[in-house]
Amino acid sequence: MSQDPSFYFPAPREQKFCSQCGTLNTNRLLEGDNRKRDVCEHCGAVHYQNPRLVVGTLPVWGDKVLLCLRAIEPRANTWTLPAGFMELSESMSQGAARETQEEAGANIVLGKLYTVIDIPQVDQVHVYFLAEALGPELDPGPETLEARWFGFDEIPWDNLAFRSVSTTLKHYIHDRSHEHFEMHHYSLAINR
Ligand code: ZN
Repeated sequence: MSQDPSFYFPAPREQKFCSQCGTLNTNRLLEGDNRKRDVCEHCGAVHYQNPRLVVGTLPVWGDKVLLCLRAIEPRANTWTLPAGFMELSESMSQGAARETQEEAGANIVLGKLYTVIDIPQVDQVHVYFLAEALGPELDPGPETLEARWFGFDEIPWDNLAFRSVSTTLKHYIHDRSHEHFEMHHYSLAINR
Protein backbone atom coordinates (compact mmCIF):
# COMPACT_ATOMS: atom_id res chain seq x y z
CA MET A 1 0.00 0.00 0.00
CA SER A 2 1.40 3.37 -0.89
CA GLN A 3 0.19 6.87 -0.21
CA ASP A 4 1.16 10.24 -1.55
CA PRO A 5 4.07 11.34 0.72
CA SER A 6 2.08 14.42 1.74
CA PHE A 7 -0.42 12.10 3.42
CA TYR A 8 1.99 11.08 6.16
CA PHE A 9 4.85 13.56 5.92
CA PRO A 10 6.01 15.29 8.03
CA ALA A 11 3.53 13.51 10.30
CA PRO A 12 -0.12 12.53 10.32
CA ARG A 13 -2.20 15.44 11.54
CA GLU A 14 -4.62 13.23 13.40
CA GLN A 15 -4.32 10.11 15.46
CA LYS A 16 -7.22 7.88 14.60
CA PHE A 17 -6.67 5.10 17.12
CA CYS A 18 -5.38 5.20 20.67
CA SER A 19 -1.73 4.07 20.75
CA GLN A 20 -2.22 2.84 24.34
CA CYS A 21 -5.27 0.59 23.89
CA GLY A 22 -6.26 0.60 20.21
CA THR A 23 -9.69 2.20 20.64
CA LEU A 24 -11.00 4.68 18.05
CA ASN A 25 -10.22 8.21 19.30
CA THR A 26 -12.61 11.13 19.34
CA ASN A 27 -11.45 14.64 18.44
CA ARG A 28 -12.79 17.08 20.98
CA LEU A 29 -12.09 20.01 23.25
CA LEU A 30 -11.04 19.09 26.78
CA GLU A 31 -12.05 21.22 29.72
CA GLY A 32 -9.52 23.98 30.30
CA ASP A 33 -7.85 23.42 26.92
CA ASN A 34 -8.05 25.76 23.92
CA ARG A 35 -7.87 23.41 20.93
CA LYS A 36 -9.25 20.03 19.96
CA ARG A 37 -7.24 16.89 20.79
CA ASP A 38 -7.50 13.24 19.81
CA VAL A 39 -8.85 11.68 23.00
CA CYS A 40 -9.37 8.03 23.89
CA GLU A 41 -12.68 7.72 25.72
CA HIS A 42 -11.77 4.17 26.78
CA CYS A 43 -8.45 4.63 28.63
CA GLY A 44 -8.38 8.42 28.87
CA ALA A 45 -5.16 8.96 26.90
CA VAL A 46 -4.86 12.39 25.26
CA HIS A 47 -2.78 12.28 22.08
CA TYR A 48 -1.15 15.70 21.94
CA GLN A 49 0.57 16.64 18.69
CA ASN A 50 3.47 19.06 18.90
CA PRO A 51 6.06 20.47 16.50
CA ARG A 52 9.13 18.42 15.68
CA LEU A 53 12.74 19.47 15.95
CA VAL A 54 15.09 18.85 13.03
CA VAL A 55 18.76 19.07 14.05
CA GLY A 56 21.74 19.31 11.76
CA THR A 57 25.18 20.74 11.12
CA LEU A 58 27.02 23.00 8.72
CA PRO A 59 30.33 21.10 8.48
CA VAL A 60 33.30 23.04 7.12
CA TRP A 61 36.65 21.66 5.96
CA GLY A 62 39.00 24.54 5.13
CA ASP A 63 37.16 26.55 2.51
CA LYS A 64 34.60 23.87 1.68
CA VAL A 65 31.20 22.93 3.05
CA LEU A 66 29.71 19.45 3.26
CA LEU A 67 26.47 18.67 1.42
CA CYS A 68 24.64 15.36 1.05
CA LEU A 69 22.58 14.25 -1.94
CA ARG A 70 19.35 12.85 -0.49
CA ALA A 71 18.50 9.25 -1.32
CA ILE A 72 15.07 9.47 0.31
CA GLU A 73 11.87 11.48 0.12
CA PRO A 74 11.02 14.19 0.68
CA ARG A 75 13.22 16.00 -1.83
CA ALA A 76 15.19 12.95 -3.02
CA ASN A 77 18.07 13.84 -5.39
CA THR A 78 18.55 17.29 -3.92
CA TRP A 79 21.46 18.50 -1.77
CA THR A 80 21.13 19.12 1.93
CA LEU A 81 23.19 19.85 4.99
CA PRO A 82 23.25 16.74 7.19
CA ALA A 83 20.15 16.93 9.40
CA GLY A 84 17.25 14.89 10.65
CA PHE A 85 14.58 14.50 13.29
CA MET A 86 15.81 14.61 16.85
CA GLU A 87 15.31 11.27 18.61
CA LEU A 88 13.96 10.70 22.10
CA SER A 89 16.54 10.75 24.92
CA GLU A 90 19.14 12.79 23.06
CA SER A 91 20.19 16.44 23.23
CA MET A 92 20.13 18.75 20.21
CA SER A 93 23.90 18.59 19.85
CA GLN A 94 23.90 14.78 20.16
CA GLY A 95 21.21 14.59 17.46
CA ALA A 96 23.08 16.94 15.15
CA ALA A 97 26.32 14.96 15.55
CA ARG A 98 24.48 11.66 15.06
CA GLU A 99 22.81 12.84 11.85
CA THR A 100 26.16 14.07 10.52
CA GLN A 101 27.66 10.68 11.23
CA GLU A 102 24.73 8.73 9.78
CA GLU A 103 24.25 10.77 6.62
CA ALA A 104 27.82 11.67 5.76
CA GLY A 105 30.20 9.68 7.96
CA ALA A 106 32.09 12.91 8.55
CA ASN A 107 34.47 13.23 11.49
CA ILE A 108 33.52 16.57 13.04
CA VAL A 109 33.86 18.72 16.12
CA LEU A 110 30.57 20.42 16.86
CA GLY A 111 30.67 24.21 17.13
CA LYS A 112 28.17 26.88 18.10
CA LEU A 113 24.43 26.79 17.65
CA TYR A 114 24.04 28.76 14.43
CA THR A 115 20.51 28.91 12.96
CA VAL A 116 17.12 28.35 14.62
CA ILE A 117 14.37 28.38 12.01
CA ASP A 118 10.63 28.30 12.66
CA ILE A 119 8.62 26.61 9.90
CA PRO A 120 5.07 26.63 11.29
CA GLN A 121 3.38 25.44 8.09
CA VAL A 122 5.04 22.03 8.51
CA ASP A 123 5.06 22.13 12.33
CA GLN A 124 8.84 21.98 12.52
CA VAL A 125 11.75 23.91 13.94
CA HIS A 126 15.10 23.39 12.18
CA VAL A 127 18.31 23.94 14.13
CA TYR A 128 21.84 23.92 12.67
CA PHE A 129 25.16 23.89 14.50
CA LEU A 130 28.45 25.00 13.03
CA ALA A 131 30.90 22.11 12.76
CA GLU A 132 34.54 21.75 11.89
CA ALA A 133 35.69 18.65 10.07
CA LEU A 134 38.84 16.92 11.34
CA GLY A 135 39.52 15.55 7.86
CA PRO A 136 37.90 15.28 4.44
CA GLU A 137 37.03 11.57 4.72
CA LEU A 138 33.35 10.78 4.21
CA ASP A 139 31.35 7.58 4.49
CA PRO A 140 27.71 8.29 3.63
CA GLY A 141 24.95 6.04 4.94
CA PRO A 142 21.91 4.63 3.15
CA GLU A 143 19.92 7.90 3.27
CA THR A 144 22.60 9.64 1.19
CA LEU A 145 23.43 8.98 -2.47
CA GLU A 146 26.59 11.03 -2.30
CA ALA A 147 28.36 13.25 0.24
CA ARG A 148 30.72 15.86 -1.13
CA TRP A 149 32.74 18.94 -0.14
CA PHE A 150 31.72 22.04 -2.09
CA GLY A 151 33.65 25.28 -2.41
CA PHE A 152 31.45 28.22 -1.42
CA ASP A 153 31.32 29.26 -5.09
CA GLU A 154 30.26 25.73 -6.13
CA ILE A 155 27.10 25.35 -4.02
CA PRO A 156 24.26 23.94 -6.17
CA TRP A 157 21.78 26.68 -5.22
CA ASP A 158 19.18 25.49 -7.77
CA ASN A 159 19.12 21.99 -6.32
CA LEU A 160 19.09 22.43 -2.55
CA ALA A 161 16.55 20.43 -0.56
CA PHE A 162 15.05 22.94 1.86
CA ARG A 163 14.88 26.69 2.46
CA SER A 164 16.35 26.12 5.92
CA VAL A 165 19.44 24.76 4.14
CA SER A 166 19.78 27.59 1.61
CA THR A 167 19.20 30.33 4.19
CA THR A 168 21.67 28.76 6.65
CA LEU A 169 24.30 28.60 3.89
CA LYS A 170 23.63 32.24 2.91
CA HIS A 171 24.01 33.40 6.51
CA TYR A 172 27.26 31.45 6.78
CA ILE A 173 28.74 32.86 3.59
CA HIS A 174 27.84 36.38 4.71
CA ASP A 175 29.18 35.89 8.25
CA ARG A 176 32.34 34.22 6.96
CA SER A 177 33.15 37.28 4.86
CA HIS A 178 32.95 39.36 8.07
CA GLU A 179 34.61 36.68 10.22
CA HIS A 180 31.81 37.12 12.73
CA PHE A 181 29.39 34.28 13.43
CA GLU A 182 26.34 35.00 15.52
CA MET A 183 23.24 32.93 16.01
CA HIS A 184 20.36 33.60 13.62
CA HIS A 185 16.74 32.99 14.62
CA TYR A 186 14.13 33.53 11.93
CA SER A 187 10.92 32.20 10.48
CA LEU A 188 10.08 30.73 7.11
CA ALA A 189 6.37 31.13 7.72
CA ILE A 190 4.21 31.42 4.63
CA ASN A 191 1.56 34.10 5.00
CA ARG A 192 -1.82 32.78 3.95
ZN1 ZN B 1 -6.96 4.21 24.86
